Amino acid sequence: MSEIFDTPELEAYVDEALPAERMGQVEEALRESGALREQLQAIHGRRDAGVHSLGGIWRRHRMSCPSRSDLGSYLLGVLADAEADYIRFHVEISCCRLCAASVQDLTAEQAAHDQQHEEQQQVAGRRQKYFQSSIGHLPKE
Ligand SMILES: [Zn+2]
Repeated sequence: MSEIFDTPELEAYVDEALPAERMGQVEEALRESGALREQLQAIHGRRDAGVHSLGGIWRRHRMSCPSRSDLGSYLLGVLADAEADYIRFHVEISCCRLCAASVQDLTAEQAAHDQQHEEQQQVAGRRQKYFQSSIGHLPKE
């Protein structure tokens, strides 16, 4: 079961203010929980509403790369359009090598996570088959 994080903790995640281990736990939980992604989307929405123009967002981000949590949110598709556009521009058009590396890293983590999940299901499936086939071989009383 994935843990549920409250809004202040998610806010801290967005600000990259959590310890690295906790950041990882939030990332993990975000992949698993649609409800948590909606919570994150709401935070981004509220923050976005506080900025009045695309120019404002541009100025806010211009001097720095998007945070790792922003890149993660971008990959999960939960960012507001303007922010997602900014990151797409930053990574794909400006070809920021640092952010491209982070995107690659996050994508690889996601792929590894999906594969692990699939393997777990296969093992569960094999166990089930083994159990069913061994029932037929039990000696009759
Ligand atoms: Zn960058």
